[in-house]
Amino acid sequence: RAAAGPAYLSGLNPEQREAVETLDGPVLVLAGAGTGKTRVLTTRIAHILSTGRARPAEILSVTFTNKAAREMKLRLGQMLGQAVEGMPWLGTFHSIGGRILRYHAELVQLTSNFTVLDTDDQIRLLKQLLAADNIDDKRWPARMLAGLIDGWKNRGLTPSQVPAGEAAMFGNGRGGKLYAQYQERLKILNAADFGDLLLENIRLFREHPDVLRSYQNRFKFILVDEYQDTNVAQYLWLRLLSQTPSSSSLPGSTRQSISSQEDGSPGLAASRRPGDDVETSGNVVASTSAPPKNICCVGDDDQSIYGWRGAEVDNILRFDHDFPGAKVIRLERNYRSTGHILAAASHLIAHNEGRLGKTLRTEDVDGEMVTVTGAWDSEEEARAIGEEIEQLQRQGHALNEIAILVRASFQMREFEDRFVTLGLPYRVIGGPRFYERAEIRDALAYLRVINSPADDLAFERIVNVPKRGLGDATVQMLHDHARKRRIPLFDAARMVIDTDELKPKARGSLRGLIESFERWQVQRDAVAHTELAEIVLDESGYTEMWQKDRSADAAGRLENLKELVRSMEEFENLQGFLEHISLVMDREGGADEDAVSVMTLHSAKGLEFETVFLPGWEEGLFPHQRALDEQGRAGLEEERRLAHVGITRARKRAKLYFATNRRIHGTWNTTIPSRFLDELPAANVEITESKGGSGWGGMSGYGPSRFDNVESFGSSYSTPGWQRAQAQRGRSGGGSNGGRSGGFGESSSSYSSGSTRRAPFTI
Ligand code: ATP
Ligand code: MG
Repeated sequence: RAAAGPAYLSGLNPEQREAVETLDGPVLVLAGAGTGKTRVLTTRIAHILSTGRARPAEILSVTFTNKAAREMKLRLGQMLGQAVEGMPWLGTFHSIGGRILRYHAELVQLTSNFTVLDTDDQIRLLKQLLAADNIDDKRWPARMLAGLIDGWKNRGLTPSQVPAGEAAMFGNGRGGKLYAQYQERLKILNAADFGDLLLENIRLFREHPDVLRSYQNRFKFILVDEYQDTNVAQYLWLRLLSQTPSSSSLPGSTRQSISSQEDGSPGLAASRRPGDDVETSGNVVASTSAPPKNICCVGDDDQSIYGWRGAEVDNILRFDHDFPGAKVIRLERNYRSTGHILAAASHLIAHNEGRLGKTLRTEDVDGEMVTVTGAWDSEEEARAIGEEIEQLQRQGHALNEIAILVRASFQMREFEDRFVTLGLPYRVIGGPRFYERAEIRDALAYLRVINSPADDLAFERIVNVPKRGLGDATVQMLHDHARKRRIPLFDAARMVIDTDELKPKARGSLRGLIESFERWQVQRDAVAHTELAEIVLDESGYTEMWQKDRSADAAGRLENLKELVRSMEEFENLQGFLEHISLVMDREGGADEDAVSVMTLHSAKGLEFETVFLPGWEEGLFPHQRALDEQGRAGLEEERRLAHVGITRARKRAKLYFATNRRIHGTWNTTIPSRFLDELPAANVEITESKGGSGWGGMSGYGPSRFDNVESFGSSYSTPGWQRAQAQRGRSGGGSNGGRSGGFGESSSSYSSGSTRRAPFTI
């Protein structure tokens, strides 16, 4: 083959090219960050299309996010020099699974217009089931059951497959039965939850081999990005689709259904939607003579970061076993990052034991060193990063090329506030902005009603949150009263509780709420607004609602609520705070505006930016205490992979930060810089002082010894400065933080056992 070839192939290195051009048989690309895995996948699709090996609708291509799917389509268009029509099967596992499910909905007792339930609907439904079964929702919260069911679905388990021991974990052994009832109810409601989009798809394939075969035949090529993060259900689904249907085992009826598809008669074709690229050639029948399965998965074991959600990195490790004869291709050249960045990331991840290990090299210049900056506290951290960004902006760098990657979503608040103050455009990726999160909006709604009882929107939002038996009918009745008398809902409620229009239980409940608000309104003038917020969240039962919640995101929501209260400290009173919020909420950036990206490390997977800021590298936050507590060593290694993902997102600049103090409820707590900072190679790291507006000088009031310690960062890093600083702090500050120079095993055990060692801000 001529070295030149089509334009899209030029520029690929020999290994990449091999991965693109090996179209027959299974291929695994196992390679580190930034080595061009995603680029290989995209080029491979271009190659398949332009060599006529398959049409767009015959390629199944799975990406991790919808955004990644859109990007791939865009790149594909650029490579082929024309917009790519079709590609109906390029998307996430869930979007593709949902699509297939709709075509065959009747076969799984749904109709094609079935609804996909969100978490709230799911919880409501489970609550009904618990009530019907006389299970105490307080002792056995619906959210806990929802979490269990999600976990089972991620593992591909139908109700009958749930191990007895696990079914016993809920409602005195009724977990499995409730799961079964839940699935039945979903069918009656013509609904599916998120997990069903794959699980029901798997059931469909298992119970209807003819349908499975039609898809096995349809998909001439299967491509999967981020394979290291597939969970069991996703793996099973891929396995089913990637098996080669053999002609000998193909029953006549299946031939029938496939050929009926071809001539457009009912059957599969009936559920096809207009616009789909319909199979018309003889390929389908021809392919029944057992073609090799052309599946290409790409991934990196060092970037497996969804173990906590059931992802199985083993999937990638046993690829050769699952797909005999697989060609495994390794890519070793990193095209993304400069030398220092790559060295720092590689050195860090080398501290993990459970890994395959790989070589990565760059031919890029060393570039700027990775910087580590200690800020006084998170406010100063945000101020310093804000300044660095403005400086980059002045030097002509696009904001689009700058990202802030946080470990926990509550960290975003400080940056968002700072950017609003600076007038710096930003966007939050992969989730709502801090003040738009459901739990924050709920909490704000309480405060808004206290501030202004006529705020009907706010009142309606929380009248039944947490649930207090004031359902839609009650709210409707309040609306009727309010409209008739032209008064706010709150006043209508105050009237209604003195009549017998409501059933006694609802009336009592509404009276309780109104009285609470009246009490809080009085307290508003007596206590600090932060304290008021705490009282309200506590007395309303709102915090408790999330404390009882066993779903995966509940702890994060509680963190966000605490951060909300903390953010109020910066304002003089409730009024001032709420005004600030309305300003923040008002800021709407256009999609193509030049803006800084703010997101969690988890949502940053696969992305790249010229400059990446990584704040909050402190023990307890990163590595996150929860990961250490719940998963021990495995949790720590997953956190380290996350740190590795973070650094490898940077092309030219990686800027790590830690705050030496976190302020919580008005008190200062000293933190310990992340052990991951100790694990960075000194030769590639530069330790800088915070350039935050106030500088250290302004902080000296908080104690000269700390100030001295922090100052020592700048001097030398032959022994990393933060290590020395810790030791000093340990000596001067009661000893609880010192002496962390011992091996990792030693420090890890003391972290999970001694509460004094815990960074104070974790929950
Ligand atoms: P991650 O593991 O982070 O998902 P990846 O392996 O998927 O990374 P890509 O995103 O595909 O890596 O590529 C990283 C960067 O390197 C991209 O900007 C890509 O365009 C560029 N790149 C990849 N291969 C080449 C090449 N042969 N020549 C020039 N640039 C390349
Ligand atoms: Mg990628």
